[in-house]
Amino acid sequence: MTRVFNFSAGPAMLPEDVLQRAAAEMTDWQGCGMSVMEMSHRGKEFISIAQKSEGDLRTLMNIPGHYRVLFLQGGASSQFAMVPMNLLRGRERADYLNTGSWSKKAIAEAKRYCRVNVAVSGESAKFTEIPPRSAWALDAEAAYVHYTPNETIEGVEFHEIPDTGTVPLVADMSSTILSRPVDVSRFGLIYAGAQKNIGPAGLTIVIVREDLLGKEIPGTPTMFSYATHAKAESMYNTPPTYGWYIAGLVFSWIKEQGGLQAMAERNKKKADKLYRAIDESDFYHNPVTTSCRSWMNVPFTLARPELDSQFLDLAKKAGLVTLKGHRSVGGMRASIYNAMPEEGVNALIAFMKEFEQKHT
Ligand SMILES: *Cc1c(COP(=O)(O)O)cnc(C)c1O
Repeated sequence: MTRVFNFSAGPAMLPEDVLQRAAAEMTDWQGCGMSVMEMSHRGKEFISIAQKSEGDLRTLMNIPGHYRVLFLQGGASSQFAMVPMNLLRGRERADYLNTGSWSKKAIAEAKRYCRVNVAVSGESAKFTEIPPRSAWALDAEAAYVHYTPNETIEGVEFHEIPDTGTVPLVADMSSTILSRPVDVSRFGLIYAGAQKNIGPAGLTIVIVREDLLGKEIPGTPTMFSYATHAKAESMYNTPPTYGWYIAGLVFSWIKEQGGLQAMAERNKKKADKLYRAIDESDFYHNPVTTSCRSWMNVPFTLARPELDSQFLDLAKKAGLVTLKGHRSVGGMRASIYNAMPEEGVNALIAFMKEFEQKHT
């Protein structure tokens, strides 16, 4: 079996150890004679899987006891609505930081429920920078401040958690969760679709401070209330059981690797290398301001865009796949989440150098 280096933004590469373990347990999970996919979510086997998965996530992220962890469906996109529905708490306004395509989607959805104050926007600079804190116009009466710590499409990342005082901070961490240690106590709510850095698509993780629960707007569907899922331990209805199990395998894999500090060191090293290779060449270009470049998603363009398809074809032949940039920005994008080994980044850099030499 040959595995490729898959630079997909999501669904993305998973650690090979995790896939092997899932394969070994596929038809008979630990002697119970059935696959995790076939188990009742209320049976003792699955309950043990679910509890271990949550426990490991709590350990990894050092999640305080007054936060609930929810294992939901619907993707990060459902959170764009669930956040205002649950967190407005009688207020009429919410602050949003607009730093890229995913921020914009979150803003558009929130506008259906409240008055959105776009406290800052990087749009005039085509989302290649995050304007400094001094340029933000936060509203002290806002119900919450929503931001996107890592913009998966533009490759723009906050390297510090914004200070929003007593206003709860909400983060769409879909493409950066578990890439480094993070102080959960700074947040009111964190959400993430699993398919970037956690596991299979279909699972969405929400980490929410308990005091924010139970104040949803009238008419909120039962399934869209965080309180519903918190009360039922994410088992109000059938949860995404297989995704929850794979996420658990990924959490234990990260623990074995040395936890989030070790992930951060590795991720920084991979990203630094790749940006250095891009910056040192006149052939490749990354437009993002150095201080807010993403560790996870590295977009780059070729000096001669007419070579894009040849670059992609040859890369694929070299076992480097899914490097095509998002259709909205063009060029290339290398997503280098936790599961991308350093060898994958080394192989990409070597390929890029070779391609450049052939075409300059
Ligand atoms: C991928 C992504 C989303 C959308 O996730 P879905 O699970 O497909 O809804 C939202 N926000 C960010 C930052 C993403 O990277």
